[in-house]
Amino acid sequence: MAAYKNVDLFSAINELHIVDEKILKSCLSVSDNCNLPLGEIILSKDLLSEDNLGKIIGDLISVPYVNLTEVNILSEVLHLIPKKVAQVQQIIAFKNDEKGLHVATSDPSNTQIIEFLSKKTGKSIIKYFSSQSQINKALNLYSQSITKAFDEIIAKNVQEAKGDKNAEPPIIKIVDTILKYAYENNASDVHVEPLEESTLVRFRLDGILHDIVKLPHELDSQIVTRVKVMANLRTDEHQEAQDGKINFQIQNGNQNEHLDIRISVAPTTKGEKIVMRLLSERTRHFSLSDLGFVDEDLKKVEDAYHLPHGMILATGPTGSGKTTTLYAILKLINTRKVNIMTIEDPVEYQVENVNQIQVNIKTDLTFARGLRSIVRQDPDVILVGEIRDEETADISVNSAMTGHLVLSSLHTNDAVTTFPRLIDMGVEPYLIATTVNVVIAQRLVRKICNKCRVTIDVPYDKLDKQIQKYFGKSSKQLLYHGKGCDICHKTGYVGRIGIYEILLMNEELSQAIVDKKNSYDLRKISIKSGMRTMLEDGIEKVKQGITTIEEILRVTKE
Ligand SMILES: [Zn+2]
Repeated sequence: MAAYKNVDLFSAINELHIVDEKILKSCLSVSDNCNLPLGEIILSKDLLSEDNLGKIIGDLISVPYVNLTEVNILSEVLHLIPKKVAQVQQIIAFKNDEKGLHVATSDPSNTQIIEFLSKKTGKSIIKYFSSQSQINKALNLYSQSITKAFDEIIAKNVQEAKGDKNAEPPIIKIVDTILKYAYENNASDVHVEPLEESTLVRFRLDGILHDIVKLPHELDSQIVTRVKVMANLRTDEHQEAQDGKINFQIQNGNQNEHLDIRISVAPTTKGEKIVMRLLSERTRHFSLSDLGFVDEDLKKVEDAYHLPHGMILATGPTGSGKTTTLYAILKLINTRKVNIMTIEDPVEYQVENVNQIQVNIKTDLTFARGLRSIVRQDPDVILVGEIRDEETADISVNSAMTGHLVLSSLHTNDAVTTFPRLIDMGVEPYLIATTVNVVIAQRLVRKICNKCRVTIDVPYDKLDKQIQKYFGKSSKQLLYHGKGCDICHKTGYVGRIGIYEILLMNEELSQAIVDKKNSYDLRKISIKSGMRTMLEDGIEKVKQGITTIEEILRVTKE
């Protein structure tokens, strides 16, 4: 149920003049005809960000808006509302302080639940508005199965440590267990955070942070020291941030797997916080088809990297898997015959026979400087981690002009906006048109759990309006979702896969770039010459049962 009247939201947005009135009116009539909240239509058409819309609705209904994905929700606070209640009532407790219990709901007009919570907790309840999708994400935090299992392992080790006063705590074993467990659960990051009275270990699973276990506070400094020793960092330095790396061996059946772990230690007011990013060989060995490239797109990318010079660009927001794609391509090019050099920040994977340079701000080794020295080393192929500034853009394009194959990434929303972005960075349009071979725009979506995947019948008119045209008009659509099981920690998803749009340069497009046509026109030309959009690639993966419509819509709005 919407928390507002469609017509009120219409006026509120219209007064702000941030969406074209005609478009807004058509959204209003769609939402009235389909009996859907106006906000949903606006989001599905990508007219406003979820955050902006949330703030506007919050103002409209006089309930403050909170972005739950930006709040660190402690497990103990979350559980002040039992899971069942939270699910049914779509309400999340996210903060508990002297003012009371702060809760977020997508339907603030439901006053009964607020009364109920107030009685049950004996606290004053402070109500916030949040979006449906954020509430759903936060509900995932209830998945407790990992935590429980892990709790027991750690408790045993801690007990052993406390039992014998003279014995050293088995801190090595505890840290190893954390890493091993993170690896087994496919966590991408491990956070070890000092709190007032304990140390919190959190895993990032499929992009979302989960509280895993709380360790006794006295172990905190020992864990930090142990990790620093493993990463060759200074153990006597507590006031400065330090970065390092660990090579970790994991027994996986009969095989030893090698895990690269990037370490970042930073001082906080309560002690030192550690973030560890796990980069396993599993991800390193990914081929493009493992990453989700369909055959026809593979062919396009292949044609591009067989060219002796030019640029291959991967684009998308942070965390969209651009680097992984570039490495997969690098792996294909990596033969003894070519000299490959990289400049990266950070170096995410070690690649054999490739000279990798790490950006280092302290020694003034910037992307641009590193790139200048690389060009003097006679490379055939250069990987530039990211083009962020004019100088790097300039040298990259010039290297591509002078006979090198350049692989790099850019922070743009889709393939065609790469061109105006490069022009903004001062690159001449004709240089862009002659050097860019291919642009790969991408996002990562969560994959449906194989173990609990079931089919669902979705009525055609319940499909998001934005995507209806991709489905047949039969009354029901056969789609898939994960019911939730122990394997997927009740989320219905395990692992991630990419959705892509691959833009190949052609004559018409390069003329349009030289003519400085806008992204809208560039997009039209690209689609006309055969580019499948990210949304289309995603829909294909939905129909194949790999992912869900919710996932596709979530990431294509980023
Ligand atoms: Zn499952």
